[in-house]
Amino acid sequence: MTDDDGPAIDPDEYEDVWVFVEEHDGDVMPVSWELLAEAKALAETTGDDLVALTIGEDLDDVAEEAIARGADRVLVADDPVFEPYRADPYGEQFRAMVEDRKPSIVLIGGTHTGRDFAGRVAVPAHAGLTADVTEIDVDDEGVLQARRPAFGGDILATILCEEHRPQMATIRPGVFEAAEPDPDRIDSDAGEIVDVEVVVDEDDAVSEVLEREVGETADITEADRIVAVGHGVEGDLGPARELAEAIDAELAASRAAVDEGWIDGARQVGQTGKTVRPELYVAVGISGAIQHVEGMNKSDTVVAINDDPNAPIFDHADYGIVGDLFEVCPALVERLETE
Ligand code: FAD
Repeated sequence: MTDDDGPAIDPDEYEDVWVFVEEHDGDVMPVSWELLAEAKALAETTGDDLVALTIGEDLDDVAEEAIARGADRVLVADDPVFEPYRADPYGEQFRAMVEDRKPSIVLIGGTHTGRDFAGRVAVPAHAGLTADVTEIDVDDEGVLQARRPAFGGDILATILCEEHRPQMATIRPGVFEAAEPDPDRIDSDAGEIVDVEVVVDEDDAVSEVLEREVGETADITEADRIVAVGHGVEGDLGPARELAEAIDAELAASRAAVDEGWIDGARQVGQTGKTVRPELYVAVGISGAIQHVEGMNKSDTVVAINDDPNAPIFDHADYGIVGDLFEVCPALVERLETE
């Protein structure tokens, strides 16, 4: 152990599994509920409480929903200083709560916000942080098994944090399924809501939000149906777009299509893009590289359109159409319109 590792800690002093519930303007990021559902199994294995933690303003509804979705306890830091989001007040508040209450495991959604402030908690806690995790588990000793793609997605590495606490990870949105809220848990007083001391005020903040511009970005992780385009479309998104409109689907893409500048990066599916799990995924002119498949292989039904019968995407498809996408897409649209 070096000086940089921080003071020696006793893992037995740390308990409970924490999940950060991320809220903006009253809306909770779906990954928060995905994590809460998955973390419940961890807490059951270790015999710990499942604790939701939320930071923002006017959080009563968020706290109640966290209880309804399975939290044993919700820690609420409610103050105007947290709106709109800034990394420094969030990070400092979160850090103080971790230092005070000593959680064993802390899970944060790998959103823009989560990625932004998680390091501000991990560094002062000497905790380390496993980023972009896609699978989690825990062993009998309470050691988190955080798995994430490594070496360009060729392997899944398991990262352990045996000596330090808390064990922290950011988790990729869309990889777990959220559980439905159970209103009976509210009625039966199943969980406890705890207002924690707010340790930051406006004078402590080093950043100031001067202006906020909210852009039009589709959230493909929430789409029930997706038509994804690949390099095979050669810059012409028209046929795929018409197919998407015909089946009321969101448009998404492989990295090759994004790199070409044909479509916005927020719509990229895969290892360095988003993980999606729609009921229908139509891959148009996509070869099926492992890094792409990783982001869409949890889709319920996959349809692949490709002119190469040996394209790997067909190994992951429920229905495959071998043919020229510029003929197949219009033919499908025509058939859909006549039905
Ligand atoms: P190609 O592999 O070029 O495939 C195009 C396909 O279109 C071919 O199968 C071809 O047969 C077919 N086609 C061509 N013309 C037609 C036609 N007229 N009609 C029908 N079919 C046609 N990729 C991702 O997608 N997402 C990621 O997040 C991602 N992350 C990565 C991370 C790392 C570290 C690395 C190394 C790579 C990553 N990649 C990612 C890139 C990935 O390896 C592939 O290069 C990429 O997915 C290929 O995109 P594509 O299938 O659109 O293009």
